[in-house]
Amino acid sequence: MDNDEFRRQAHELVDWMADYLATLEERPVKSRVEPGSIAEMLPEAGPESGEDMNDVFADFREIILPGMTHWQHPMFMAYFPANSSYPSVLAEMLTATLGAQCMSWETSPAAAELEGRVVSWLRDWLGLPDDFEGVIQDTASTATLCALLSARERATGFKINEQGFEGRRFAIYCSTEAHSSIEKDVRIAGFGSSALRKIPVDDDFAMRPRALAECIEADRAEGVTPLCVIAALGTTSSTAIDPIDAIGEICREQDVWLHVDAAYAGTALLLPEFRWMLGSGESVDSFVVNPHKWMATNFDCTAYYVRDAESLVRTFDIQPEYLRTRVDTQVRNYRDWGIQLGRRFRALKLWFVMRSFGRSGLQAMIRRHIEYGQWLVDTIDNHPSFERLAPAPLNCVCFRWLPANTKDEAAIERANRKLLSQIQDDGRLYITHTRLAGRYALRLVPGQTRVERGHVEAAWALIEETARDLAAA
Ligand SMILES: *Cc1c(COP(=O)(O)O)cnc(C)c1O
Repeated sequence: MDNDEFRRQAHELVDWMADYLATLEERPVKSRVEPGSIAEMLPEAGPESGEDMNDVFADFREIILPGMTHWQHPMFMAYFPANSSYPSVLAEMLTATLGAQCMSWETSPAAAELEGRVVSWLRDWLGLPDDFEGVIQDTASTATLCALLSARERATGFKINEQGFEGRRFAIYCSTEAHSSIEKDVRIAGFGSSALRKIPVDDDFAMRPRALAECIEADRAEGVTPLCVIAALGTTSSTAIDPIDAIGEICREQDVWLHVDAAYAGTALLLPEFRWMLGSGESVDSFVVNPHKWMATNFDCTAYYVRDAESLVRTFDIQPEYLRTRVDTQVRNYRDWGIQLGRRFRALKLWFVMRSFGRSGLQAMIRRHIEYGQWLVDTIDNHPSFERLAPAPLNCVCFRWLPANTKDEAAIERANRKLLSQIQDDGRLYITHTRLAGRYALRLVPGQTRVERGHVEAAWALIEETARDLAAA
């Protein structure tokens, strides 16, 4: 392909992209292909000689697209969203075109300096303490791993990096509702899953601070070092908010690192009326939020904040001769702020989004989504055949269908499983499920960049109608 051909193809693709986004709603939101069916249409070996781009693109449309779930579809109300937006897509096109590898300041000074700026804009917009310093990482899973590793190194005078564990025993704490990435990170960081203490939650699925304090004391009595508490600002099942100030007080007394996992719900801190979720933030050592979930910024883009950047950098800093530059003492080399050496230019899309929406534009979007969530809460609470299974402070609503004359828990679960698979097969709406206090729960999150009130009403109408049809069958 030469430059003229690239230009022609690129114009065509941009037209296709705009058409795709304008007509998304005509497609089933969740892919309905059977396992293995896409692979079957792809040759087992790659092509020996180059193919025409028109053929490649035709296969993209005919083979790949039917096997895609459309995350930017406004009826995508499953999991948590992975939202994009027009400005974010434009920035991703530029990032791909520049193709820069932003491991150190010298390998692209603008990327490093822009990253510093946008993460501090975001820190201020979220109302995080102003002594926090930030870095963009790929995912919250990685950021939480960084928190565990920095906590581990700070607590041991940076010894484990050099000598290994040498029999030292640590404990890490999160609630029973915490995200699975935490256990994965605990394993990767070398603590072993058995070092993770899952603290019980209250009726609202938030961590019980008293139980945390007792667990920490029991560990100390056993000669185990309490290392890090990971509090959830918005759990994945139901956006439960752990009491950060109460947990922070315990962490301060016990000299334990406090990491706040706000991967999804952290975006709601853009709204002053939701700042209570973080409390004073005084005792927080590190904080993670994913603009790639609810803040209109293409996956991947995770903002990770630390109060003590020195501990972070000392944990990860490693300087082989071939990476040394003349300016190392004057600049930030973000390769030392995390796990990867090579880094994408992720700050660009966040900058495009923040400038294109402005703070007030993002606030308006989040407020709208929360309103939809609260409309759903009211609708379910006033419905004779549905019940809500958890508080819904934002826009993640967990509920279940209560078919008439069914009292048995197992039968209710079977009915709800059936309801969910019917809805998922229908293609107009994508929702998923979770389990709360042992109960099977349907889970609906109206938080897609393009979602409007009418979509949420249509989603609810479909759920109701499907339940009615199942009851009649
Ligand atoms: C989504 C989520 C994660 C994981 O996010 P990744 O960026 O995919 O690693 C972690 N914690 C919570 C609370 C989440 O909702």
